[in-house]
Amino acid sequence: MSDSYDVVVIGGGPGGYAAAIKAAHLGQKVACIDKYINKNGQPALGGTCANVGCIPSKALLDSTWKFHEAQGELSIHGIDVGNVSMDVAQMIKRKDDIVAKQTGGVAMLLKANGITWLQGTGKLIAGKKVEFAPHEGDAQVLEAQSVILATGSSPIELPMAKLQDDIIVDNTGALEFTEVPKRLGVIGAGIIGLELGSVWSRLGSEVVVLEAMDTFLPMVDKQVGKEALKNLKKQGLDIRLSARLTGTAVKDGVVSVEYTDANGDQMMEVDKLIVAVGRRPITEDLFSVDSGVNLDERGFIFVNQSCATDVPGVYAIGDIVRGPALAHKATEEGVMVAELIAGHHAEINYDCIPSVVYTHPEVSWVGLTEEQVKAQGDEYKTGMFAFMANGRAVAANETTGFVKVVSDVATDRVLGVHIVGPQASEIIMQAVIALEFGASTEDLQLMVFAHPGLSEVLHEAMLDVDGKAIHSVKRKRRK
Ligand code: FAD
Ligand code: AMP
Repeated sequence: MSDSYDVVVIGGGPGGYAAAIKAAHLGQKVACIDKYINKNGQPALGGTCANVGCIPSKALLDSTWKFHEAQGELSIHGIDVGNVSMDVAQMIKRKDDIVAKQTGGVAMLLKANGITWLQGTGKLIAGKKVEFAPHEGDAQVLEAQSVILATGSSPIELPMAKLQDDIIVDNTGALEFTEVPKRLGVIGAGIIGLELGSVWSRLGSEVVVLEAMDTFLPMVDKQVGKEALKNLKKQGLDIRLSARLTGTAVKDGVVSVEYTDANGDQMMEVDKLIVAVGRRPITEDLFSVDSGVNLDERGFIFVNQSCATDVPGVYAIGDIVRGPALAHKATEEGVMVAELIAGHHAEINYDCIPSVVYTHPEVSWVGLTEEQVKAQGDEYKTGMFAFMANGRAVAANETTGFVKVVSDVATDRVLGVHIVGPQASEIIMQAVIALEFGASTEDLQLMVFAHPGLSEVLHEAMLDVDGKAIHSVKRKRRK
């Protein structure tokens, strides 16, 4: 094994492995160091996303939504499935099989691109060198022209809710319950808490979500957040805002959860507790003090717009740097950095990164919210259209929610699109394309959308900006 590379990537998640593959495509000799060991004791690529994040959580969300539908919603179609039961062990096995496929696929891709996968821990040291400590064998120092740090994030732990066996768990443990807890507590109504709470609620858990803030999904458009909250509550998620966890105690397999809310000190008992209060960047032991790399005031690796650290030739991407902790953001940063290393021009439009909450209804957004545009003092228009008035949504019995568009008065440019409803995770990509191309609402109004399709709701919301929606009784007066 050679100890000299054009590019050494530390971390094999969606940021690191994408950077490694792109760098290899561009003719570089690449090594990717990753230390992850899965629950079977095997090294596995793909990072948080493939092993314990995006993919397994969506596998469980899909399984449990099918169960939910089979339990009742299918009857409206005339489908009688009789008594429905869920084999939790099979559901978890299916999830594990999917994870194995995904992580194996990443390993196959690295191999096919001639990338050396080094199994162990990497650390940047002075002189842009990388110290590699393999899981087995002696440490060695690697020489590299360029180094990409991509070590991701880990769940934030709360001192008053220390993880305990499979009773108080983080987002990883919440993917592994062997049976449906009767009473489940979730601390944190962020995206991860809501998705994992939904999984177990659909299987029959009584789920209480405690959220310290008084606003539900504060980064989301207010109207969208309100609609999502209403529907999640209707589904049975007991979401309590302004409820801050203060302590926990486990006795005889039951967790006593203490929290404060507007009425003072409260207590509840649950059988399992998921702590989902956010994630923090993994920077410990990642670089030596004399490496030249610095952290920003929030503990992320300090980088510029191009993900360059303070050390020439050393980049950092993904969850260890500023910006949303999203797999696709990590991947695009990895690709950008590999292009820059190869001497090409590359940049990311950080204003155009979509976000999705994969609950039911799904929530998605890109660009500015109405509140943000208002705060900027710009003159804006909005358009809204409900799935209720869309033929495809009615045919599919999926009529919850709406699409909302925010656009600039002076230029008619689309500034933001916010969706709560069916297939919001897919429809949002049309808005991403629109924003990326600087489209006006008129551009989208003039396009032909296939009928019947859920995307027609986006079309009608664009038309509604000027009071021109066809399937709306409450038409605005056209100026
Ligand atoms: P990671 O994926 O965390 O990968 C980093 C890798 O580096 C890991 O394998 C780690 O073991 C390794 N590593 C760490 N330190 C070292 C070291 N010193 N040496 C060698 N290796 C090291 N995002 C979405 O976009 N969509 C979703 O639907 C979504 N769902 C999620 C659901 C859950 C439950 C969770 C927890 C996260 C979810 N995310 C989702 C977030 C997403 O997983 C992360 O944003 C993404 O994985 C970050 O990618 P990354 O490459 O920066 O780091
Ligand atoms: P996110 O960072 O989006 O994953 O969301 C995590 C959520 O957990 C945030 O909305 C926080 O307000 C919430 N949170 C953090 N600490 C506590 C706490 N002690 N009690 C309840 N909620 C909390």
